[in-house]
Amino acid sequence: MTSKRNVIKHPQIKNPVETLANTRHEFGEHGGVNMSIEASTTFTAMHPDILADMFHGDKGPDQGGCYLYGRHFNPTVYSLSRQLAALEGTEAAYCTASGMAAISATLIQLCNTGDHIVSSHTVYGGTYALMHDMMPVKNGIGTTFVDITDLDEVEGAITTNTRVLYAESISNPTLRVADIPALSDIAHRHNLKLVIDNTFSPLIISPKQLGADIVVHSMTKFIGGASDHIAGAICADKDFILELMDLHTGALMLLGPTMDPKVAYDISLRIPHLSLRMTEHGQRAQLFAERLKAMGLNICYPGLPEHPDYELLSDLHCPDYGYGGILTLDMGTEELANQLMDMLQNDYRFGYMAVSLGYFDTLMSCSGSTTSSEMTEEDKLEAGISPGLVRMSVGYTGTTEQRWRQLQSALERLDIKGPGPMRVTA
Ligand code: PLP
Repeated sequence: MTSKRNVIKHPQIKNPVETLANTRHEFGEHGGVNMSIEASTTFTAMHPDILADMFHGDKGPDQGGCYLYGRHFNPTVYSLSRQLAALEGTEAAYCTASGMAAISATLIQLCNTGDHIVSSHTVYGGTYALMHDMMPVKNGIGTTFVDITDLDEVEGAITTNTRVLYAESISNPTLRVADIPALSDIAHRHNLKLVIDNTFSPLIISPKQLGADIVVHSMTKFIGGASDHIAGAICADKDFILELMDLHTGALMLLGPTMDPKVAYDISLRIPHLSLRMTEHGQRAQLFAERLKAMGLNICYPGLPEHPDYELLSDLHCPDYGYGGILTLDMGTEELANQLMDMLQNDYRFGYMAVSLGYFDTLMSCSGSTTSSEMTEEDKLEAGISPGLVRMSVGYTGTTEQRWRQLQSALERLDIKGPGPMRVTA
């Protein structure tokens, strides 16, 4: 049974853009409005003692402005990381070569052999595979997967070995919303770290403000915004970021998923307009969801009052950015789903059949056979990922009405505008 959420009224969520605007601006070496790229892999010490001090941990980027080696801290990557910390309201952050690097480094840092994780069963397929297939074998770290919306099930899965409670703020692809304040309460009562993947909802949800300990991102998605860089970030307190860089036991330092400073530079220029992009993604997704719903289609979008987590998200989100840029449309069968996507891409140029999300154009994929294919059929069924489920990351190119005409026209050609296999019956 799903336990009823105690409605806790949160102190007004602070819009992260205000914190971001107060963050130190990084000028270029010659006073350029954009920062310079520090492309060096190694850094000159002005005195022989400095290198030894750095190896002892007595000097560093925040202790004397000293840098050691590119796999440790890099000034350009550190500058982007400060932007991410401001965005997520954490004390510190550091960026990684991918979202998976951020997730795997975080989990490996938090858990030792024999430890245990409680995770939502609806997480990105790669994250699921990491916890379900890889970590038990390679690290001796087990995971129990639960329905994250069932707080009794979550608490019941915690054992004396549990170290981490893990969830996505808005789950991929089922679009269920994690009740972060309630999960934080459970995690902290059992002395666990609450780790939230906020890839689907930057700016919309601020997990740290709601009680999460560590926030991870795949910046490959909305934050990058152009589908041109694979990148990730870990936002946490300073001690945890320093732990990740420890020369003896740090998962970032020793596994080495280092972000290229040129990538960090590129992404840092996308942060200032993330708010505009998230607003537009969200407004279009909301409108399309409402219209698809009105057509009687089987649509899932957390901004629709019928969505089981509409009230929760309305309580948790920063209202300036709406309910997110992702919706799903259940076409009933994979065949119909494929026909729709084929038409939308090849006849109408509405968007592209591609995995990933957060691009300026619309991206569409059938989650069951792609980004969630790592999950067992049983787990997919349990999570509600049916074979005809099309995940749509709604882009903002073209005009809204032009895109709507294309979508409507494709659906009409498939003759599914009225009663049919996808018609909502309840
Ligand atoms: N987290 C979520 C929610 C994702 O959707 C993805 C990728 O699709 C990842 C993490 C992994 O990110 P990356 O591909 O940058 O490693």
